[in-house]
Amino acid sequence: IEPLDVAAIRDEFPILEREFDGQQVVYLDNAATTQTPDAVVDAMSDYYRRYNSNVHRGIHHLSQEASIAYEEAHDRVADFINADGREEIIFTKNTTESENLIAYSWGLNELEPGDRVVLTEMEHHASLVTWQQVAKQTGADVEYIRVDDDGRLDMDHARELIDDDAAIVSAVHVSNTLGTVNPVSELADLAREHGALSIIDGAQAVPNRPVDVSEIGADFYAFSGHKMAGPTGIGVLYGKQELLEEMEPYLYGGGMIRKVTFDESTWGDLPWKFEPGTPPIAEAVGLEAAIDWLEEIGMDRIQAHEEEIARYAYEQLAAEGDVEIYGPEPGPDRGGLVSFNVDGVHAHDLASIMNDHTVAVRAGDHCTQPLHDKLGVPASTRASFYVYNTREEVDAMVEALDDARQLFS
Ligand code: PMP
Repeated sequence: IEPLDVAAIRDEFPILEREFDGQQVVYLDNAATTQTPDAVVDAMSDYYRRYNSNVHRGIHHLSQEASIAYEEAHDRVADFINADGREEIIFTKNTTESENLIAYSWGLNELEPGDRVVLTEMEHHASLVTWQQVAKQTGADVEYIRVDDDGRLDMDHARELIDDDAAIVSAVHVSNTLGTVNPVSELADLAREHGALSIIDGAQAVPNRPVDVSEIGADFYAFSGHKMAGPTGIGVLYGKQELLEEMEPYLYGGGMIRKVTFDESTWGDLPWKFEPGTPPIAEAVGLEAAIDWLEEIGMDRIQAHEEEIARYAYEQLAAEGDVEIYGPEPGPDRGGLVSFNVDGVHAHDLASIMNDHTVAVRAGDHCTQPLHDKLGVPASTRASFYVYNTREEVDAMVEALDDARQLFS
């Protein structure tokens, strides 16, 4: 795989040149939000300058252009993740809303007391809290597939939990805390064998590796635009067409209906049935531009670059002696992020000292509080990498860490 021309890529991100107190920013918070290349900003600005208008096929030229662009963005996403077509691509606000859509539309209507919702101990709050709430309202039980000491799912436990009582299996594709790449195809197969629906949270996968939803075989797959060089305000829910056809919408209003009388209403075609009101049009244009941009580089190369940087970071941190790193060792089942703690230094203090060096990392529970409870720490520091990161930036982080150690020892 041909390595990336990182210097050329960085030129497309003016934000990476920003300085604070004379030091250039080192942006290692990509699992939270990635930066946006000029191509995406330009596409969105072009939309606002040239064809901003409401969609839903208005009669006038501008609305026609906006409608076509908005509809075609669905096709582009479908093509990118190898879905069958735009009917299977619903635009939401983010991964969290995609999860909530399934929970409200399917979960609240279909779950019954005694049904089992199978999650993993490494779920993000986006699915964990959502299914907890739906289970409370429906009387279903939530069970969690154990994470073993290496930060991998205990698949024997998964096979125990996913039996004929299982109604939902929802798992994160790549953990935003451990970096673990989970065997999502296997989980989807297990769910199908036992008549359960499968949902995969791909927020940390789609931005960083080739993802083929047809190959994975899950019923639903969710991700966010802002973690894949795209804009905030748009997320995606992929769902199998026959399931989406059967599901009731949970948000109602204009744009999603076929026929409305004073007494009742019927719903429009997919995906519009799940997209009421004025949708994120400029954001859809931006997301399409981001996909073009990512594919131009190549998802294989992006994955290889991030894994290489993450491996380097892992090795540098592991060599420090007083650093505890969470998740599997570098290898095929580890993605491009590293969460860790330094002995005797609170994660927030560490992140704050790193910020003094203009190194941007995240400290906290990364929306995986129960997992941190299990790890026995209140928080961790996370460095997460993208196409534009370099080994030198990892070195800057490790240097800042030495400073923190000196201050706190
Ligand atoms: N799932 C995972 C694995 C994530 O990393 C994130 C973002 N931290 C989310 C869900 C939620 O994404 P969003 O905030 O865009 O809804």
